[in-house]
Amino acid sequence: MRLAIRTGQFYDGTDAAPRSNVTVVVDGGRIVEVAANDARTGAERTYEAACVVPGLINSHVHLEVNGEPDTQTFFLIRTPTERTLDAALNARLSLEAGVTTVRDLGGAESNAMALRDGVARGEHAGPTIVPAGRAICMTGGHGFFLGREADGPWDARKAVREQRKAGATCIKLIATGGVLTKGAIPGQDQLSEEEMRAAIGEARTHGMRVAAHAIGTNGIKNALRAGVDSIEHGHLLDDEAIALFKERGAYLVPTLAAVWRIYENIAGGAQPDYVVRKASEIYEHAGENIRKAWRAGVTIAGGSDAGTPYNRHQDYAYEVELMSTVLGMTPQQALTAATATAAQLLGVDAGVLAAGRPADLLLLDRDAGADVRALREPRVVVKGGAVAHERA
Ligand SMILES: [Zn+2]
Repeated sequence: MRLAIRTGQFYDGTDAAPRSNVTVVVDGGRIVEVAANDARTGAERTYEAACVVPGLINSHVHLEVNGEPDTQTFFLIRTPTERTLDAALNARLSLEAGVTTVRDLGGAESNAMALRDGVARGEHAGPTIVPAGRAICMTGGHGFFLGREADGPWDARKAVREQRKAGATCIKLIATGGVLTKGAIPGQDQLSEEEMRAAIGEARTHGMRVAAHAIGTNGIKNALRAGVDSIEHGHLLDDEAIALFKERGAYLVPTLAAVWRIYENIAGGAQPDYVVRKASEIYEHAGENIRKAWRAGVTIAGGSDAGTPYNRHQDYAYEVELMSTVLGMTPQQALTAATATAAQLLGVDAGVLAAGRPADLLLLDRDAGADVRALREPRVVVKGGAVAHERA
């Protein structure tokens, strides 16, 4: 169906100045033109919006978890079938909240791959999914309960081959300890630089991009030297790491909501003590460090680590808000991080609205450039040129 959307403000996903009073014409899944408001569109249906932005791209999610306060225990007691159902629900909730593309950075089963295919066939409601399969970690490493344990360069290569065989199109490595695994220390190295270099070499052979979970200072640098495309979290980075990011052209996905949601919900008492303690220590430094990286010119892509405690898939707008309020991005810069920049990191044709590009876009009630909270509840979500959701 040919659609026309008359909008007061239009953001194309890049840093280009917003345009006022334009009509976006959509047909055959793509944008036909962005025209003056009085243009003849030939549309079968015309919508009005205060603001149009690209569909949001969440570069870091876990579709099999739902924000439970104790992730490790939840994972261990959940059956594979329950995880499948959760992933399908989270895919739908993401889409309804305006997230039209996600990168799933680790699950226990192949749910993200199956859902990607089901969504692509039109059988399931959800965003475009770029799945990593199982995260690759050292034996007993962070996330071992959902990961593929690998030790040594050749085993790391084999682990990459296994994810590719299972249908993954990107790879996730665990470079340091983390918050949600009992006994894992965020500041400590886990996979070695040598192991990561081998895994990344293997991934490159198959055209796959690589993300590394890295919180500790040294592990961030190990992963950057090994050649990863993105550092996930990066909270304890230092000046040397900032220089490496820029030298290598690596992206930083700061997942602020993952830390902030744990910190905001301490009073509830439902989270394990080790989670609260580790997240509180990181909270002390994360804002300042990531802000410093942003100001120094490190490229930041939006990703929330959705699924972690109290960090729901349908709340990605909160991560965009935090990138603005904590890092000092303008609302438009935060929007760009969550659209065009994230699309570049994932290597997907999305995140930018222009003639010929895919029509993944949101109709908002207010100008997101004036107040980024306008992203919280899109009125209409268009994915692949079709209306995927209209708010009741
Ligand atoms: Zn994660």
